[in-house]
Amino acid sequence: MKILVIFLLQIKVMRFNMPKSPKIKKRPWIDERVKHSRAVDMSAFYNSSKWRKFSKQFKIDNPICVECERNGLIVKSTRTDHIVRLRDGGGSDLNNLNPKDFQALCTKCHASKSGREAHGYKQGDRGNIAKIK
Ligand SMILES: [Zn+2]
Repeated sequence: MKILVIFLLQIKVMRFNMPKSPKIKKRPWIDERVKHSRAVDMSAFYNSSKWRKFSKQFKIDNPICVECERNGLIVKSTRTDHIVRLRDGGGSDLNNLNPKDFQALCTKCHASKSGREAHGYKQGDRGNIAKIK
């Protein structure tokens, strides 16, 4: 019994000494945003069966990442990328998805392109990067 009490006390002491997670500081000058949410919700488009079928077939037809290919690398494509962003109206008609509106990219190139777009940059036809006005 005595050993059990000592053991429980030790656990209590250990818990007391555990580092606590930092408190979230309120910064009123920054707009509060719901975690894990996007500014524009495109889930209805990407979850549709028409998109899934199109994207699956597109990756079969275009198995190599075009961006890596431009840089002399052969990398398997894993993403069907809207050349013009979906939110800007590129390839947004589910009943008329045209392969010309899309390019096959690998995960790394797609994340890189999405990041540039999110920060207001776009890639030109020759691969040059320019700030969107
Ligand atoms: Zn790539």
